[in-house]
Amino acid sequence: MIDILKTFTHLQSVARPSGFESPCAQAIAALAGPYCDEVKIDTLGNVICHKKGPGKRLMMAAHMDVIGLIITHIDKKGFLRFGALGGFVPYRLIGARMKLENGMGGSVWCDEKAMEEKKLEEISLNDLYLDIGAESEESARKMVQVGDVAMYEGEVQQLGQMLLSPYCDDLIACAALLSAMSQVEKSENDLYFVFTVQEEVGLRGAATAAYAIDPDFGVCMDVTRTGDNPSEKAKMVVKLGAGPTIKIKDVSLLCNPQMIAHLREAAKEGDVPYQDEVLTAGGTDSAAIQKTRGGVLSGCISIPCRYIHSQNEMVSLKDVEQSARLMALCAQRTL
Ligand SMILES: [Zn+2]
Repeated sequence: MIDILKTFTHLQSVARPSGFESPCAQAIAALAGPYCDEVKIDTLGNVICHKKGPGKRLMMAAHMDVIGLIITHIDKKGFLRFGALGGFVPYRLIGARMKLENGMGGSVWCDEKAMEEKKLEEISLNDLYLDIGAESEESARKMVQVGDVAMYEGEVQQLGQMLLSPYCDDLIACAALLSAMSQVEKSENDLYFVFTVQEEVGLRGAATAAYAIDPDFGVCMDVTRTGDNPSEKAKMVVKLGAGPTIKIKDVSLLCNPQMIAHLREAAKEGDVPYQDEVLTAGGTDSAAIQKTRGGVLSGCISIPCRYIHSQNEMVSLKDVEQSARLMALCAQRTL
């Protein structure tokens, strides 16, 4: 059986931003091999793991990409300017430690003028720069070039039942999906476990994978916001430690009522506690699956997560384990 925490820690070491997922894809393909009949990596880089069954095609997915920065300009003093791969709140990047794909480090800071004249929310990515410790433009150019990518630096920390990491979204769900795969011995369904690319830049990998697989129904696993901490404006009932959520709606999709009922039944049958999720910001791969070809019945299991898209995302390990269990139950349940 696949151990979630060990797998998550391993995937952290190969985390990459959208479009650069190949090292993570290779690691996932190697882990998945023993648990399915066929593993392939498609043109865009999605890892598609097929566990054959006689019945309907079920596509389950979690995204491999993490949010990142892409270098757009190197200035005369050797400081780097950047754009975003995925959704950042710019001011929250100030002071963040980043790592480039080649392993080099850097620190994000803000132009003095913007700090003095703007409110926090008005600060844009154009006001920020990445300092890699270069002494000049020339020495910076020896270390990086335009188009290189950077992501948050950070290890997994365990705080009692909670995990802290920059990559919970969505590598924790990738680890949970691998665990679910290892929990399923046999199923009537024809199972596809898919690890998608480029979710953070517009659900792109899921769209082509779903088109190719042509599933009868689909279930994604991603993180969702919570309403249980002092910084959270969202009026959500979701909290850490109360089990996975079964999504009803987010900005990108309305889950099919049939799928919501299906997931709730699976949870009840397996004694997995769950929470109802209506998310008012953000979307996920389920939306791309739902809209493929003539339409696909789609649902979503979410892992409650505080501080999404920050350097310190927090999830409950218990919720993650139960999410994996719920996905395994769903994989074995016919629709
Ligand atoms: Zn996500």
